[in-house]
Amino acid sequence: MKEKMLQSFNATTQEPFGNELASTSRLELETYVQESFDAFSEWQSSTGDERFKLLSSLADALDGDREKLVELADIETGLGVPRLNGELDRTVFQLRRFAKLAKNGEAFKFTNDPAVLGGPPAGHPSMMRVRVPLGPVAMFSASNFPFAFSVLGGDTASALAAGCSVVVKAHSGHLHTSARVFEIARQAIKSVALNANLLQMVQGAGNQVGVALIQHPLIAAGAFTGSTRGGAALRDAARARPRPIPFFGELGSVNPVIATSEALKKGGNVLAQSLAASMTLGCGQFCTNPGLLVLQRSDEAKNFVNALIEALKVIKPHAMLTKAMRKALDQGTAAQISAGAKPLLYTPVNDVCPNPYLAEIDAKTFISSHELHEEIFGPATLIVWTDSVEQTLRVLSAVGGTLTVTFWGAEEESGDVVSLVRGATAIAGRVLFAGVPTGVAVTAAQQHGGPWPSSTEPMTTSVGDASMDRFLRPVALQDMPVWLQKRAGRPC
Ligand code: NAP
Repeated sequence: MKEKMLQSFNATTQEPFGNELASTSRLELETYVQESFDAFSEWQSSTGDERFKLLSSLADALDGDREKLVELADIETGLGVPRLNGELDRTVFQLRRFAKLAKNGEAFKFTNDPAVLGGPPAGHPSMMRVRVPLGPVAMFSASNFPFAFSVLGGDTASALAAGCSVVVKAHSGHLHTSARVFEIARQAIKSVALNANLLQMVQGAGNQVGVALIQHPLIAAGAFTGSTRGGAALRDAARARPRPIPFFGELGSVNPVIATSEALKKGGNVLAQSLAASMTLGCGQFCTNPGLLVLQRSDEAKNFVNALIEALKVIKPHAMLTKAMRKALDQGTAAQISAGAKPLLYTPVNDVCPNPYLAEIDAKTFISSHELHEEIFGPATLIVWTDSVEQTLRVLSAVGGTLTVTFWGAEEESGDVVSLVRGATAIAGRVLFAGVPTGVAVTAAQQHGGPWPSSTEPMTTSVGDASMDRFLRPVALQDMPVWLQKRAGRPC
């Protein structure tokens, strides 16, 4: 692995920011993963109270350093103080939620199946189905969530609550924020007399560190939030190991929005305003950004698009996270136009802050052009015009997999509405019947993860209570001794 120095940048000015930081060497990576494995060896049998103590201390530490952390993150990401304070609130909330889940014994839940006398198939020995933590988890942070999908984000919180240790790969877009979160987290863990090596961190651009981490023999699983291309590369690296491991990748998504003409007639202007705000929120840099609007031709739909254009015209998004992303946005919109999309709002500027982009295309061309199905990261949305419900369904089917579909106008049950709900649920992890897709509640019934290309494992979620299940593997204990049964699902 090449050792090199890493430079962080001020997202708004594009000037270098802070000291250079050394990328993790091969020897350091070996040490950190070994330390993580040693910490896991004890932590896997920790009690719910110990897990509560750990996660609560991390939540307190994050909240206690809020001012400095938000200031740093704002410089490195340009996402703005209000948004970053909100994201920090969510991250603290997630840690506290997993602390409570751990205390309540969520990770220790088991199925008890007492012996049934007699021969098979009805008769069987006593069985207890328990779950054991996987081991050290390699966690890859995302650029656009410096707190919530980063060092102490949801993946880390859920993995620690499950009884795993975590080795974070810091994102090169917010190195100093990651370093500070890591430092205060380690102090917090020590302050409650637990092993600070439960959390380790590596850094390095150019993919080598990330690939070395996911392929380390002691790493037991990968949790990734980022682009479809990066996630696919790391998933392949996880599969190419002599002993492949689970890899949970949360990737990019186009998040179609569909609407009936009745819904647009009733709430058109309000819906246009809220969609414009959602498209440009955080400069469109959300995995749940509405990148596709699928509308059946009607006067109401035409009026809605005009209102959307007017609402977008007065919005000026802030700087993008990195220079490379800014360039990728321009390339993506230009490629969409070359593929046949007709621009409705397209004013390219030579500036870190892009203008919102809106274009339109007919359903037939969209369905047959694979390049139009890909996410453009930033404030860019493509309208697909359809002539019928059947064609809308074919457009959804061409998208194939997405984190969300938003459906406005499903209040009354009808043949068309049922078909559209079926079409939406077939391709999405979350279907919304009101509001906009940006904003993901951290709660019990949340599902954040959809069919490929939005996730590598659509049966799992990276947000919400069930995200802990990713790091627990079922084991059936047959004819177990009494002492083992008395552990009530807590691993040894
Ligand atoms: P990214 O470029 O894929 O980076 C994510 C992480 O993976 C970084 O640590 C990066 O390393 C590493 N990486 C990327 N390609 C790699 C490769 N080939 N081999 C090894 N490591 C690799 O994504 P991003 O810029 O952080 O985020 C933007 C994307 O994330 C968007 O597509 C967005 O929709 C998606 N996203 C998804 C979710 C979700 O929950 N589904 C949430 C947020 C964002 P470096 O640090 O060295 O670049």
